Amino acid sequence: MNIIVCVKQVPGTNKVAVDPVTGVLIRDGVDSKINPYDLFALEEGFALAEKYGGQVKTLSMGPPMAKEALKETIYMGASEAVLLSDRKFGGADVAATSCALSLGVGKMGEYDLIICGKQTTDGDTAQVGPELAEKLGIEHIANVTEILECDGKTVTVVCDLDKVHQTARLSLPCLITVEKDANTPRLPSYNRKKSMNCDELIKVYSVADIPEADEKKLGLSGSPTQVERIFPPEKNTDRTMLEGSANELSDSLYALLKERKFV
Ligand SMILES: Cc1cc2nc3c(=O)[nH]c(=O)nc-3n(C[C@H](O)[C@H](O)[C@H](O)COP(=O)(O)OP(=O)(O)OC[C@H]3O[C@@H](n4cnc5c(N)ncnc54)[C@H](O)[C@@H]3O)c2cc1C
Repeated sequence: MNIIVCVKQVPGTNKVAVDPVTGVLIRDGVDSKINPYDLFALEEGFALAEKYGGQVKTLSMGPPMAKEALKETIYMGASEAVLLSDRKFGGADVAATSCALSLGVGKMGEYDLIICGKQTTDGDTAQVGPELAEKLGIEHIANVTEILECDGKTVTVVCDLDKVHQTARLSLPCLITVEKDANTPRLPSYNRKKSMNCDELIKVYSVADIPEADEKKLGLSGSPTQVERIFPPEKNTDRTMLEGSANELSDSLYALLKERKFV
């Protein structure tokens, strides 16, 4: 099996400055890590490759420092990786991010399965996986908690739909997004860290390296959604204590909700 896992490097802290003009997170110099959901996605990929044979390649779009995240995936077991890095990719919303990732997939050869994390801990829209699949024209399913079987033509998975669990079979090639706690992610191997030459195994592409790239669909300029403002929710400690009988309480509560236009 040829498996591609999409991995995003995210801030390791929630104290991240935002560019006041573009509304984009300022990632440079911020302590960063692999998006936690992507560690579960990686582990699903490694376990599949061990069970059915094949290899796991990793793909990321990010600033040059995202190479560190891809190095970690190589030490965990990935055979090679692609980093899409160019200021022209910067400030991308979901549409532009999935467009860029679809170009990255185009650089990675044949694939049977693309695995994404369900969401990230910074943008956390949980939309990139499904949108990437739509861009590639392949079947997709989200919130996978278990991969039951893969017979070379299809993959059968279990998805957590909150109240129910759904079992679904998809035709390969397809894309799945993986829920957290679907498995126990492995740690990077010390021996691989010592032996692997990541500079050879990680290819970095700029927009100019991808002739089919349409700059109008990439980065901030290619993003229909722009984050206007990010601000912490106002903390309000006002309290209204209602007293009285059950009927009086429900009357007072209804009057309060009506006054505040909740009903
Ligand atoms: C506070 C905030 C609100 C935002 N709101 C919106 C919005 O409403 N609409 C919108 O379009 N954009 C929005 N964005 C921008 C959006 O977050 C970015 O476009 C982001 O790159 C998209 O992905 P995500 O982090 O939401 O990914 P998710 O969809 O949550 O990520 C799912 C999976 O996709 C893969 N993935 C995601 N990004 C990458 C990457 N760069 N490289 C490799 N794999 C990746 C990973 O496997 C990841 O687990 C917002 C950003 C912020 C900070």
